[in-house]
Amino acid sequence: MTRNDDLFARAQAAIPGGVNSPVRAFRSVGGSPLFLTSARGAYVTDADGREYVDMVASWGPAILGHAQPQVVAAVQEAAARGLGFGAATPAETELAELIEERVAPVDKVRLLSTGTEATMTAIRLARGFTGRDLLVKFAGLYHGHSDGLLAEAGSGVATLALPGSAGVTAATAGQTLVLPYNDLDAVRAVFAEHGDSIAAVITEAAAANMGVVAPDAGFNAALVDIAHAHGALVILDEVLTGFRVGRAGYWGLENAGVAGHPPYAPDLFTFGKVVGGGLPVAALGGRADVMDHLAPLGPVYQAGTLSGNPVAVAAGLTTLRLADAAVYAHLDSAALTISNAVSEALTDAGVAHAVQRAGNLFSFVFGENVAGGVRNYDEVRAQEAWRYPAFFHAMQDGGVSLPPSVFEAWFVTAAHDDAAIARIVEALPAAARAAAEA
Ligand code: PMP
Repeated sequence: MTRNDDLFARAQAAIPGGVNSPVRAFRSVGGSPLFLTSARGAYVTDADGREYVDMVASWGPAILGHAQPQVVAAVQEAAARGLGFGAATPAETELAELIEERVAPVDKVRLLSTGTEATMTAIRLARGFTGRDLLVKFAGLYHGHSDGLLAEAGSGVATLALPGSAGVTAATAGQTLVLPYNDLDAVRAVFAEHGDSIAAVITEAAAANMGVVAPDAGFNAALVDIAHAHGALVILDEVLTGFRVGRAGYWGLENAGVAGHPPYAPDLFTFGKVVGGGLPVAALGGRADVMDHLAPLGPVYQAGTLSGNPVAVAAGLTTLRLADAAVYAHLDSAALTISNAVSEALTDAGVAHAVQRAGNLFSFVFGENVAGGVRNYDEVRAQEAWRYPAFFHAMQDGGVSLPPSVFEAWFVTAAHDDAAIARIVEALPAAARAAAEA
């Protein structure tokens, strides 16, 4: 018995499943989850004192690496001035302005505490603005755990093989129309039938909660065209991609004037993760006329005791200010080096697979049938997912902490230097063999 095992046994008696967010329980890879006690740079340390190169990065926020000294100092300084006031603070406006400066279609921003709150509020706002009820989402995409968004919601639910969630009423579920991702014919058909009743389409800027599945070139732009032609709004969910894949998120990558990518302007954006630098900050932003429908100006209610919390905002603001072109260049090159090394090791071990990429986010699908890459949830689910647990545990034995599910993206940080990457590369041959023999 390791200390991790002991802690897990004790946690399971006190907390449902021993965890406060389901994917942490290692259900799809098996074994005791790691109980972490500290993290610095590219490394995390568990309760047994073992150190791992971390490819989870707090599920995205830690782009600068864990406990980045300037971010920690900013948090300490803010904390010393007061943990929270429940009143407006100057730094909230600075963070809102910084988001607006980076993401051109965002005129106004409301800060909240979690990505779930941001998407939930975005949908209420879209309904309040349009006076319509229906929401369109895509299968395998995750937008947090509010009731209407738990239909075919990817990673956590996919890991547990659940179709959605118990406790969601039929009335609520019935207002969410779920379509296959990357299928514009399905989008056109649903608008042809229900166009007058659809308030909004919500989509991840690039899908990364069923593993990584990039949108086809022009997919997001076409969504905006189709929705607008029917008076509906588009909510681009950048909770995971925002400020991680580039300074203006995945929208920024697609609107940088690259051939084959027509420009587009979603009505609302949701941000989380990186925008809080590891503390609870999320943001809803968008067109001023839509955003001004929020209380106190408009009739759509949203509020939060901890919204814009000064300590959390200090972490987000400092993280975004430090995330300059050099940081993004490093993330891109580290992601490419690591993903190519994994792919080579799998090929050497004879494991058919594909690397799925969206900017510096990546993941892997296993099997001959998916070796050409996958474009939607059905294709993702057709892979040999059972190869991943063996791969995962061999990497963990080799000192690398991977996302504990094949349906999750891998996250690099600016602290993933040559030494950290070398540790990953060293662990790969044994892990690839384990995947081959699984
Ligand atoms: N949207 C997306 C795209 C996400 O990846 C997530 C979280 N993984 C959420 C929303 C929900 O964010 P949170 O966990 O902060 O509620």
